[in-house]
Amino acid sequence: MRDLADLPKAHLHLHFTGSLRVSSLRDLSAAYGVRLPSALTDGVALRVPATERGWFRFQRLYDAARHCVRSEADMRRLVDEAAADDAAEGSGRLELQVDPTSYAPFVGGITPAVEIVLDEARAASARHGLEVAVVVATSRMKHPLDARTLARLAARYAGEGPGEVVGFGLSNDERRGDTGDFARAFAIARRAGLASVPHGGELLGPAHVREVVGALAPDRLGHGVRSIEDPALLGSLVESGVALEVCPASNVSLGVYEHDEDVPLRQLVDAGAQVALGADDPLLFGSRLLDQYETARTVHGFSDPELAELARSSIRASRATEGTKKRLLDGVDDWLTT
Ligand SMILES: [Zn+2]
Repeated sequence: MRDLADLPKAHLHLHFTGSLRVSSLRDLSAAYGVRLPSALTDGVALRVPATERGWFRFQRLYDAARHCVRSEADMRRLVDEAAADDAAEGSGRLELQVDPTSYAPFVGGITPAVEIVLDEARAASARHGLEVAVVVATSRMKHPLDARTLARLAARYAGEGPGEVVGFGLSNDERRGDTGDFARAFAIARRAGLASVPHGGELLGPAHVREVVGALAPDRLGHGVRSIEDPALLGSLVESGVALEVCPASNVSLGVYEHDEDVPLRQLVDAGAQVALGADDPLLFGSRLLDQYETARTVHGFSDPELAELARSSIRASRATEGTKKRLLDGVDDWLTT
């Protein structure tokens, strides 16, 4: 059986603080004298119902972890470890998602917060032998004007390579905020050449996916799994080449699907969707990128050629240069012929 860690792949859905190792979070909390909820350190995957209460519990835990990232050194450590862990799992391209506003107070503002992440992404790419690019994301809880400010900042660092901003995202509870209010921010990002990569179609179904597609013209949807509930919608996503960043462990942890086998990975792929597997928040969901591929193999019965196609799909959906994509895709072919 081929080792999935050797399969070259791209990781397109990983959040900044959510990528933290439990051991590092423990270090940081000890250093700052912060008492952490045991749910963050017990190594057990979070399980909450897919309700507003469930999301609140998840968000409270995420905020507790974020509360331990308080300095430039912490931020650099986080990027470095995310890069190291991804590289060890065969990722040749990581597009790490960060909302810099949470860290801005500790480093002198939102601009330095972005620059620290980008600078370390560049350095960590060279150190660990992969490309780490960045998605700047705003939150549905923010004022749309703040989102525009953030989009303008992201636009200044637009590019394709390591240490550059490749996309603009929208995160937090899909049930909150008005999607249309963020259209202007996404237009600013798009004009700068950034990919539109909002969350949508995890906690809410097809109607919400249509809203996100209509307002934000996504290149990729964060999750988008629930478009399976509407074949016409899924067909239009496939047709227009909107990739889906599918994060199976996240779906189960957040109560969208009860069991691993309920995640419609096979159905999405069979329908022709361009799927890029992602870990979302390994800190809370207890599994990293490689585990998502292992789940595809062991739970969903993907053969090695099918797993290779999943990896190719993730690489094609990335914002890497054609040269990088070719190199990684060649690596997938090599993996399959060994
Ligand atoms: Zn996410």
